[in-house]
Amino acid sequence: MKRLLNRCRSIGRAAAALTTCGLLLCQSPVQAGGPIRVGGATFGIQGQPFVWDPAAMPVKYRVDPGPLSKRPDGTVVIDHAAGVARVKSLFDTWQNVPTAAISYGNIGDILPAPPYTGGPVGTAQNFIAVFASCDAGTQSPIIFDADGSIFGGLGLPRGVIGFAGACKLDPVNGRFVSGLAALNGRFQDGFSASQLTAAEFDHAFAHEFGHFSGLDHSQINVNVLSGQPRACNLDDLAGLPLMFPILFCQARSAAGLPVLAPDDMAWISRLYPVTGSPPPGKTLTSSAYGTISGKVLFTDGITQAQGVNVIARQVGSPRTIAVSVVSGYLFTGNPGQTVTCLDPSNPTTATCANLGSRFGSHNPALIGQYEILLPPGNYTVEVESVFAAFAGGSRLGPLDPPIPVPGTFANTGPMSVSAGAMVVQDITLQGTPQRFDAFESAALQAPAAPMAWLRREEFLTEKRRA
Ligand SMILES: [Zn+2]
Repeated sequence: MKRLLNRCRSIGRAAAALTTCGLLLCQSPVQAGGPIRVGGATFGIQGQPFVWDPAAMPVKYRVDPGPLSKRPDGTVVIDHAAGVARVKSLFDTWQNVPTAAISYGNIGDILPAPPYTGGPVGTAQNFIAVFASCDAGTQSPIIFDADGSIFGGLGLPRGVIGFAGACKLDPVNGRFVSGLAALNGRFQDGFSASQLTAAEFDHAFAHEFGHFSGLDHSQINVNVLSGQPRACNLDDLAGLPLMFPILFCQARSAAGLPVLAPDDMAWISRLYPVTGSPPPGKTLTSSAYGTISGKVLFTDGITQAQGVNVIARQVGSPRTIAVSVVSGYLFTGNPGQTVTCLDPSNPTTATCANLGSRFGSHNPALIGQYEILLPPGNYTVEVESVFAAFAGGSRLGPLDPPIPVPGTFANTGPMSVSAGAMVVQDITLQGTPQRFDAFESAALQAPAAPMAWLRREEFLTEKRRA
C-alpha cells in the first residue's frame, strides 16, 4: 500500500505539470501509434504487441456498483443500471468490428479489496485499493467516478475525462492479464464546468475502452485543431480516429458517423485478427484488408527514422478513409545504454542512470519500420510530425516527447492495395541532418511514462485566450 500511495503521489505531482499520468502507471513507456504496449527483449514477446489472450475471450471486466454520475449534492444523474448498459454498449462498439476477434463480458460488481469493502468506489483511497487488486491480476475494474472525487483526490488535471490501460501483464506470453478504466462522471452531472454531451461522454468511454483493449492514440487530420471546437469539417471528422488524443471535435456519433473511424477498425483488427473459419458475424481479416509497409529512412537511404507519423489515404476519399502508424512503432522508445554504468559488465538500476525501457523490440531492423492495414483500394502515403503537444498522457508513438520529422517527403504516387496482399514502399526523407547515433531517443528525456488519458480543456482554454 505504501508503495502504491507513493506512486500515486508522484503521479499527482507529475500530472499537475501535465506530463504524466493516469494512474496505472508510470512504470513504463508506451510504444507506438497502434498498439499501446509492445514486447521487449526480456519482457513479453519481442516486437509483438501485448494483447488480451485470443484463446480466453471474452475479456472479463467488473463494474463499479455505484452510479455513473451524480451532482455535488448527491443527486444521481446517471444511475448504476444505465451506467452498466452504456459500458456494455461501448464495449460492443469494438466487439462488433467484423474483422476483429475480441469480445468482452461483464462478470459482476468490482470485488472488495481491503480497505475497499464494496459499494461505490468513490474515493482516491478506495481507488488505490482497487487498483492494487488490478495490479495483482485479480480483476479488471471499470470505475465510475460519479462526482469527480477520485480524479480530484489523485491530483489529475481537471480536463481529464478518463484514463485506462493495462494493470498486470504476462511477461512470458505477451498478454494483458488485467486492465482498468476510470471515467469521470463530473462531465455528465449537468452542473459542473466543462459539461460534455451524452454523445461526447460515450465517445470518451469508447476511447478509453480502446486503450483497455491495447490501442494507443492515433493522429490523422490533425488540422482540425486549428479550427473551431465541436465544429469540425465532416470529411475531416469521418477520418479522425476515435483514438485521437484530444476530444476536440463534435462526437462522431452526433455527426451521424460510426463511432469508429477506419483507423480504429484497422488497428483493432491488426491486434485481434479473425483467422481460420470466421464465426457468425465475423469476417476473415485477411479477406478484408491488405497492407502497405516499409521503412522510413534518412536521406542516406540507409539510416532508419523512428517517430514519424505515416498516413495512407484512399484516393478519392483522402480525408475520410485513412489509416496511420508511427514509424518504429514496434521498436523501443528508449534502448538504454550501459556505457556510463559504473560496472558495464553488470548493469543494474543501482549502477546505471538508464537501463532503458522493458517495452519495445531491440531489433534495429525495426527502428523505422511502418505497417498499415487498409481496406482494398488505391492509396497514397504521406508523412508528418507527431503533433508537438501530444506528450505525456496524450502521447502517441514510441517517442515521448515526439520529434519533428527530420526531413521532407512528397506523397507517394497511388498504390493499389488488395485484400490479403502486401505492398512494400520505403519512404526516403529529403534534406535530413547527418545522423551520428542510431540509438538516440527522445525518450531519454522522459523517464516516466503516464497512462494514456483523454483530455478536453487545454485547447479550448488556449482558444479562449487567443
Ligand atoms: Zn487516450
